[in-house]
Amino acid sequence: MDLEKSFKLELLNQLYKPYYNCEACPLGTLGRKHIVFGEGNPDAKLMFIGEGPGKEEDLQGKPFIGRAGQLLNRSLEAIGIQRKDVFITNIVKCRPPSNRTPTPTESQTCKNLLLIKQIQIICPKVICTLGSAAIRGLLGRETLKISQIRGEKILIEEIIVVPTYHPAYILRNPKELKTLIADLAFAYSLCS
Ligand code: SF4
Repeated sequence: MDLEKSFKLELLNQLYKPYYNCEACPLGTLGRKHIVFGEGNPDAKLMFIGEGPGKEEDLQGKPFIGRAGQLLNRSLEAIGIQRKDVFITNIVKCRPPSNRTPTPTESQTCKNLLLIKQIQIICPKVICTLGSAAIRGLLGRETLKISQIRGEKILIEEIIVVPTYHPAYILRNPKELKTLIADLAFAYSLCS
């Protein structure tokens, strides 16, 4: 592992340490099994942010490992990206009960405690958000509709944000798979 990568990995591990038993928002006391901080390349140019851990993710402590995660992996492979080269996390790090959408308070609390600092450490060129809750949480704009904003290029300071559909939505609407892959390819093209 090169120096930059191992330094950033150490910074991420230091960041997580005070939060192993986090109860800063209601999701900390609603039956989560694991806090899913995120995984991948700590020096990634491309970072993915989803909504929150699902059942499998909660059980195993890793993001995007269920059916939606497998679809994301296949979509990345389709455009020549390996999952190990990107960083994947969520707006909230604890599973919302019954996979409900995180509340604005939960999203903003977790974003401010962890996500913003993860972004500062990883310092990606491009962030691809997956689904409505992810872009709403990241921008703090609760009325955004993913259908209106997906595929656009939004600048947050130096970082480009490209919102797209959540892979779980694609599982229910397979005809949109091409759109997801096109958005991923667009986000990747902005990394160089
Ligand atoms: S979702 Fe985030 S802020 Fe809320 S308890 Fe879990 S780690 Fe803490």
